[in-house]
Amino acid sequence: MLEPTATLSDADVEPEFLAAWRLAQMGSSRRDLERDTAWTNTVRELHPGVFALRVLRREACARLLRQIDSARDRELERGGRLASPNSMHRHGVLLSVLGLDALLADMTTRWVRPIAAHVLPQFNGATLSAHHGYLVEYARDKDERLAFHVDDSDVTFNLCLSDSAEGAELTMLGLRCDQHRDTELLPGECYEYRHEPGVAVLHAGRHRHRVEGLRSGVRRNLILWCRAAAPRGFSTTALGCQPWCAWGSRNAPST
Ligand SMILES: [Zn+2]
Repeated sequence: MLEPTATLSDADVEPEFLAAWRLAQMGSSRRDLERDTAWTNTVRELHPGVFALRVLRREACARLLRQIDSARDRELERGGRLASPNSMHRHGVLLSVLGLDALLADMTTRWVRPIAAHVLPQFNGATLSAHHGYLVEYARDKDERLAFHVDDSDVTFNLCLSDSAEGAELTMLGLRCDQHRDTELLPGECYEYRHEPGVAVLHAGRHRHRVEGLRSGVRRNLILWCRAAAPRGFSTTALGCQPWCAWGSRNAPST
């Protein structure tokens, strides 16, 4: 298990993130936030519904990875089995079995929720309380790509901890409701993102995405699927599944 030090203190996060996070908690309107340089330097909408958050200092990223690695080594030494986070990652590591639950809960409710409340309110951003967290590693002998999918989350917080990779970019492929998940791409929907340590991507779980093939190097990310405790139901308007839902299934192009 990890020592109690495996939490993130105010000193671990970027000073501007801390300032933006404080503003977000003060009941500021989105318009007021967007007039503040700490907010605009910290929270950037890269593409509709896809946000980059400059969160962690580089040294905090490195320390967190060292803590995860030593917890994993200890777990393996004592004969423990590391659970896979889901069916798509052969080499991912579920962090709850490494004693990181307190950290993940803290990340979800203290750090992610106040920001998500402003940028993704239609996806339960303000009421996120549950989490499922894991580490993914893109490397030659680990996972090398990830196929088209959606996440089982209301909001996904995907934080890069280290990156020496060529390739393994994250490609976002448009937001859909459950019914229209496999519909074709619309012009302009595809957005490719190059990860950067300390920066997290925040998006709705229903926002389709994939990871491109790795060419060399290693990328390690902490993924947090955040969910509201209440049952998840979103109006099709909130989902932004356009024009599919607006047209209705009878008129939607066949795929
Ligand atoms: Zn739809």
